[in-house]
Amino acid sequence: MLTGLVDFHCHLDLYPDPPAAIAECERLGIYTLTVTTTPKAWPQNQKMAQGTRYVRVALGLHPQLVAERANELALWEKYFPQARYIGEVGLDASPRFYRSLDQQKLVFERILQSCGKGKEKVLSVHSTRVVTAVLDMIERHLPSARRRVVLHWFTGSGAEARRATKVGCYFSVNNEMLQKDRHRSIVAALPLDRILTETDGPFTRRDGRPAKPSDISFTVEELARVRGLEASEIAAAVRMNLRTLLSE
Ligand code: MN
Repeated sequence: MLTGLVDFHCHLDLYPDPPAAIAECERLGIYTLTVTTTPKAWPQNQKMAQGTRYVRVALGLHPQLVAERANELALWEKYFPQARYIGEVGLDASPRFYRSLDQQKLVFERILQSCGKGKEKVLSVHSTRVVTAVLDMIERHLPSARRRVVLHWFTGSGAEARRATKVGCYFSVNNEMLQKDRHRSIVAALPLDRILTETDGPFTRRDGRPAKPSDISFTVEELARVRGLEASEIAAAVRMNLRTLLSE
């Protein structure tokens, strides 16, 4: 059995029973980053994860919510000093959210500027259909020594993946990314020392139900097939990458 698995982008507060979801991560020893979509969710999530060994909470303002919630940036900034992890943040240029892209950029810029100063933060970043602008902004606002950035559910091109790697980004890979040939071949070419795993549960599915952190084992097995390695080797690499990402 695989142990020490990592789910570096999950929304535990969106499951029907968040305390039970947290308890399961603890019981199975799955290192889980639970991201939030609005800063309003921060206090409650922090409270739920308090004292846990495996679960950490990220402070977010989701780009898909910026059109309605840009005014929550002040609240995000209020909680910012308490947070080591930042997410879900970023940009989304898919048709449904394209209209708010300029506003999203203003918000993401403020977020990156905050992350550029003071204690170092670890970011889980959304970049749907807008990888170039996301990387431009990271380069502009985060000094290279301070870039602890994980691109979550990366669906950019091979060239964009190579540039993201040069910029210093990690990639959290989920099962959906391994279903399509185009994305599979991009994942196959990522440097092994930049790969993390995620479910993005409950937004991905497994066996007809929302995926949960324990489903990471399937992603690790699939990654092993894509990379021609043993699942245990992938799990060990991901654990090592997480350690490097978090090292002071
Ligand atoms: Mn997400």
